[in-house]
Amino acid sequence: MNNQQPIISVSHVTKRFGKLEVLRDISFEVHQGEVISLIGSSGTGKSTLLRAINMLEPPTSGEIYIDGERITAKGYPLHKMRQKIGMVFQSFNLFDHMTVLENITDAPIQLLRLPEVQAKEEALALLKKVGLAQKADAYPSELSGGQKQRVAIARALAMHPEVILFDEPTSALDPTMVGEVLSVIRQLAKSGLTMLIVTHEMRFARDVSTRIFFMNEGVIYEDGTPEQIFDHPVHSATKAFVQRIQKLVYEIDSDDFDFLQIPTGIRQFCLKYNIRTEEETIYALVREMLFERMQAYRPITIRLTHTELTGVTALDVMVEHLTLSPLADADRKALRPRVKELIEEPTTRGFRIKLIL
Ligand code: ADP
Ligand code: MG
Repeated sequence: MNNQQPIISVSHVTKRFGKLEVLRDISFEVHQGEVISLIGSSGTGKSTLLRAINMLEPPTSGEIYIDGERITAKGYPLHKMRQKIGMVFQSFNLFDHMTVLENITDAPIQLLRLPEVQAKEEALALLKKVGLAQKADAYPSELSGGQKQRVAIARALAMHPEVILFDEPTSALDPTMVGEVLSVIRQLAKSGLTMLIVTHEMRFARDVSTRIFFMNEGVIYEDGTPEQIFDHPVHSATKAFVQRIQKLVYEIDSDDFDFLQIPTGIRQFCLKYNIRTEEETIYALVREMLFERMQAYRPITIRLTHTELTGVTALDVMVEHLTLSPLADADRKALRPRVKELIEEPTTRGFRIKLIL
């Protein structure tokens, strides 16, 4: 257990935009030296949570403490807290009219009242650390995206923050430049800097983090070590996310259902995820299950899943309230040679036939 005072403590934080509840009763603590990656689909509140922590988006309710001080208190001097918490955005946010060096020395001179000579000296040392010593006098427009982001990291470090919050630091970059930025962040993690990182780079998150938060529907749905989250997720939503399980679902409740959308949907799904099994094979199986083998069963749910991590594609056919398999021996004999696996199993809601393709 960690008996030190946490650097960040978030207590029952909620954030609403009008009627939309984006953060729902979130509580956690961050201790010195922790590197926490926030992962989850877009729109689940990851950016809002980071922005709440430094009061760029003040919470609707709940409290946030930094080094034990309640920054959500009315009238709390936010500039004091912002010096302790650096932030690196997706879009760099450098000043275009200033040189690289000026971008880095500006805040230390203005806010920390550092003498110019000292600020420059420190800035040059930081530029060296992020591999850009020779770019001190360049303007941002002369740099690549990866270089701009490394300057933005140096600028955050120049304030000697206790924590840096990164919001998708590599998602605006050309793929060839992702690596140079991630390696700078890795180096910071090794040096013991406390960081919260929103990222879609799963391998990086796994390597660099001491802890992972999986965010889903405005809550920290699962919180654990990288091994727990990636190898032994407790919740099925976490598993679906980390294994990148893609789904195409049709619920057919009557024969008025628009069946013509199914082949188009399957084609788009196969194209999108580069599924090797032929879409004709998949559609033939769907058609057969719907109109020949299981015509008598309605409502019926057809679910095509593709696990990008393993490349496995499966077709599930589910019938509610059924306790025995709707398949006859002849059906099994016809299906088995055409699939890798045929699974028939009762579920909590009914009965499922699973075809692994
Ligand atoms: P993520 O970073 O996980 O993609 P965000 O925190 O950006 O998610 O957004 C969560 C939800 O809050 C989204 O539905 C988004 O549209 C909404 N949202 C974010 N910022 C605002 C805002 N300033 N005003 C209204 N809605 C917002
Ligand atoms: Mg975001």
